[in-house]
Amino acid sequence: MQNSEIKTTCSYCGVGCGIVVTNDAKNGVTVTGDKDNPVNRGMLCSKGMNLHYVVNDTSDRILYPEMRWSKSHPMERVSWDAGLDRAAAVFSSIIKKHGPDSVGFYISGQCLTEEYYLVNKLVKGFLKTNNIDTNSRLCMSSAVAGYKKTFGEDSVPIAYDDIELADTFLITGANPAWCHPILFRRLEQHKEKNPKIKIIVVDPRKTDSALAADLHLQIIPGTDIVLYHALAKRLIEKGYADKDFINNHTENFKLYKDLVMSSSLEKASKLCGISVDQIKQAADIIGKAKGFISLWAMGLNQSAIGVDKNTALLNLSLLTGHVGKPGSGPFSLTGQPNAMGGREVGGMANLLAVHKELANPVHRQEVADFWGVDGISEKPGLTATEMFEALESGKMKAIWIICTNPMVSLPDSRRVEKALANAKFVVVQDISHNSDTSKFADLLLPAAGWLEKEGTMTNSERRISYLPKGINAPGEALPDVDILMRFAKKMNFTGFNFNTTEDIYKEHCLMTKGTNIDISYLNYSRLKNEGTFQWPVPDYGHPGTPRLFADKKFFTPSQKAIFNIPTAIENTSPAPNDEFPFVLTTGRIRDQWHTMTKTGKVSRLMTHIPSPVLEINPIDAFKSKIEEGDIVVVTSKNGTVQVKAKVSDTIREGVVFLPMHWGKQLENDLNRTNNLTNTIVDPVSKEPDFKYTTVSVIKYVKP
Ligand code: SF4
Repeated sequence: MQNSEIKTTCSYCGVGCGIVVTNDAKNGVTVTGDKDNPVNRGMLCSKGMNLHYVVNDTSDRILYPEMRWSKSHPMERVSWDAGLDRAAAVFSSIIKKHGPDSVGFYISGQCLTEEYYLVNKLVKGFLKTNNIDTNSRLCMSSAVAGYKKTFGEDSVPIAYDDIELADTFLITGANPAWCHPILFRRLEQHKEKNPKIKIIVVDPRKTDSALAADLHLQIIPGTDIVLYHALAKRLIEKGYADKDFINNHTENFKLYKDLVMSSSLEKASKLCGISVDQIKQAADIIGKAKGFISLWAMGLNQSAIGVDKNTALLNLSLLTGHVGKPGSGPFSLTGQPNAMGGREVGGMANLLAVHKELANPVHRQEVADFWGVDGISEKPGLTATEMFEALESGKMKAIWIICTNPMVSLPDSRRVEKALANAKFVVVQDISHNSDTSKFADLLLPAAGWLEKEGTMTNSERRISYLPKGINAPGEALPDVDILMRFAKKMNFTGFNFNTTEDIYKEHCLMTKGTNIDISYLNYSRLKNEGTFQWPVPDYGHPGTPRLFADKKFFTPSQKAIFNIPTAIENTSPAPNDEFPFVLTTGRIRDQWHTMTKTGKVSRLMTHIPSPVLEINPIDAFKSKIEEGDIVVVTSKNGTVQVKAKVSDTIREGVVFLPMHWGKQLENDLNRTNNLTNTIVDPVSKEPDFKYTTVSVIKYVKP
């Protein structure tokens, strides 16, 4: 470490807390919350405050490239040159024989912006395929599509500082108390100082967030839009609609009004499994709000109708005029530290850099011209689940996986297993030797981790921060940008001769010039000296933009926000039946992160919930003769999981919950929740429906 103390940003969730890192010979790396950081003001959650254990423990790190010459050969240590020569030879030969769309890259919302930018340039500009997608597809692609449909572009309108300016919060499909803890702590502190502020939580589970709420609407899974429409009807009937905002700044209100006015509170009450009075209470709280913020995450996004759920929720902000003013607005929460940065560089199969559209020929040409290539393929790339389907069917032959563990995180693990086993060539570029995915690698490339490389990230509120390199990576591990540039050179691609990571950032910033996410006046020096910035930053002296749409001009052609009409109001996934009578919903627990390749190494984070348990309602447990602690067999049409039961009235009757984190920690893989989940995706966002899989649950009986 060049300095004894550096400031950086947490590598876990999209809150993006500031961290002060110290390093000394005696203690190694230690971390504290950065008191000067506007996001967390010195606070850290359990995951963040234990980050140093992950950095100091290099026991499972990939230390040098490893490769096998054929599927029947064991992995052996090779040089960087030998590994990347082979990668270039195999990718070139597959592309020559089967075309560019026979290869793909699957990356991560944990990649830094420079890495995201570079790999997209490599794949879309030079490999000539759009088969590059990210695990953010599993997280926020429905929110991206919802924003675009409503505001004309992917744009989170508000900032964390709006929390302290609002008096009413609708948290829906999210458990920030566990999944975005510091953000939730700010909300709690705000309520402690102002007991009159109101928090409404919509969730089928009585989460810690719900326990802190003034009103918990424990709806039946999948009925979110029914509820939002009933709320809208009540808001209109009670005169809470903001007519001035609707008339001057929105489109399509009449159709929306006709639709919601045809709904019935009584019917909504039945479908949602809550009382009419609760719906009225919620609507009246929202209607009286001076500052209304809706917060949501995977409960809405991970659905077969995720985009419709997003637009239906956004409609409530338009209806009440709570957009573009202090303490008001919709606010989707990103799960990963740089999911937002990935959106800026077009890090998904259907996007191009700087929010340009792959489907737009003018945009494709602009990006091609900028990169100095002869064009970008017009064929949409395969999304996360589609890529693995294509590997399974043999349409895709090779995949390069960076910083993600799809064997545990993608739905229907069996299919992912078959896909990876069927692939001709799998490259895994990561830090951890022991991930479930690394076992399938034909080429394993050691990447530098958090604190071992420099770059930038953007958090949920569009705040860009610079992360300096603090320590050297172990063994021969290299920063991801170095690995990608070395591969590009092996492929004889021009346009990758960057001398520094900052040069990559400069190219990305230049590309944003004149766009709605303009950061062309931002650079490492400003980020290092002046701190974090929220985009856009369209001038040298510009302080950044905490709030979008203050002028009520949206990014649509008419500059008006759009009331969208959902294609489906009720859930479209298969409903429970005699064979699979329960709805399984999955999610995070407080102290674990993703597939536990980092947090699973920290013993103190394993004490909160040491192994996966199935939450089941006492009435369901009684009917199924299941008691607390019994081993239960959970089965869906895709597979089986065997875990202990936790009998609890925190969950609705008919619904069961499993955490998503565990992989193959046992001899078998019966810990892995995604053995069960289905591969249904939203038709627009292609985000998987993790929150609604029908399952059976029985007590395990020894054979
Ligand atoms: Fe890290 Fe998120 Fe916790 Fe902040 S809230 S310390 S960003 S995990």
